[in-house]
Amino acid sequence: QQEATPPKPPPKAPGSPPLPRQNSKTTPPSPPKIITDKSGRLQFSRVGFLGEGGFARVYEVQDVRGARLACKVVTKSSLKTKKAKTKLYAEIKIHRSLQHPNIVNFQECFEDSDNVYMTLELCPSGSLMDMLRRRRRFTEPEARFFMVQLIGACHYMHTHQVIHRDLKLGNLFLDANMNVKVGDFGLAALIENPGERKKTICGTPNYIAPEVLFDTANGHSFEVDTWSIGVILYTLVVGRPPFQTKDVKAIYKQVLLYLYLDRANESSRRIRDNEYEFPTERVISSAVQHLISQILTPVPSQRPTLHEIVDHAFFTQGPVPSYIPTSAHDAAPDFG
Ligand code: ADP
Repeated sequence: QQEATPPKPPPKAPGSPPLPRQNSKTTPPSPPKIITDKSGRLQFSRVGFLGEGGFARVYEVQDVRGARLACKVVTKSSLKTKKAKTKLYAEIKIHRSLQHPNIVNFQECFEDSDNVYMTLELCPSGSLMDMLRRRRRFTEPEARFFMVQLIGACHYMHTHQVIHRDLKLGNLFLDANMNVKVGDFGLAALIENPGERKKTICGTPNYIAPEVLFDTANGHSFEVDTWSIGVILYTLVVGRPPFQTKDVKAIYKQVLLYLYLDRANESSRRIRDNEYEFPTERVISSAVQHLISQILTPVPSQRPTLHEIVDHAFFTQGPVPSYIPTSAHDAAPDFG
């Protein structure tokens, strides 16, 4: 397991004033046990904590009928800047416009005096990242199953002019039947004019495409999601991402960029130089290797379309299971 360790801070000069603590993030107060909107029409009871992201905390809640949901909570105190508000409104506008069996369903959005709340379909089985940690890697039939669902969701988003821009295993949730649900539209963008290209991304997408890093003049578009799909496929069958370096972990990225510019740039350099390899100690089919190499093409216009991807021999000449048993959370299923 390659784990990042934070860089040691430079030695302090004697007598220098103490540095402000870098990680002194204060935890906001918990939302109320009974969450209601201002009108009292909506009412949910908070029953558990699910996780925490960049600017939101996610709780499990129950509605008045007893149905379980996820509730994403953003404190109003974190929405003081215009930029923060614009980002949240964009996420809500985009996410609530999408309805697809493989996209986390967005239900309601409301506020009280302290927080903004979004209720979402509950994904009780964690993400593909959690599952990969337990399993270490997936079989190729499992990879086909998950990828077909992901590509279906992605095709739907693209036909609705939405680029997700942060497709990664941690944002691919699983429902109780092991179906993929794409979540977290915090970096998503809407393409409002045909041919429009995006020039900036606020945030740090995990599986970042080369044109985002190296072609800021031309911008990027839907093909960044195709790139991420290639990174995801590689990660599922190999067990680690193709461009990962030992010491880069999202939370330390900023610090590293500042202190060890060259090391933080190592994974970007590998992306630029299209430098990745397949392990040789076990069999990874030539079909999947060929497909991955086609997708991870540095020039975005040369990447295959989503249709071309599902028409590739990896999908058409190997078994695609009709479902994945829940036992697959911990051990490889036998599809034989
Ligand atoms: P990010 O970590 O990318 O900021 P979110 O803020 O959307 O992601 O979510 C934070 C965490 O909350 C996730 O990593 C996950 O553990 C949990 N979570 C988010 N959405 C759901 C959901 N619909 N069902 C179950 N758990 C969820």
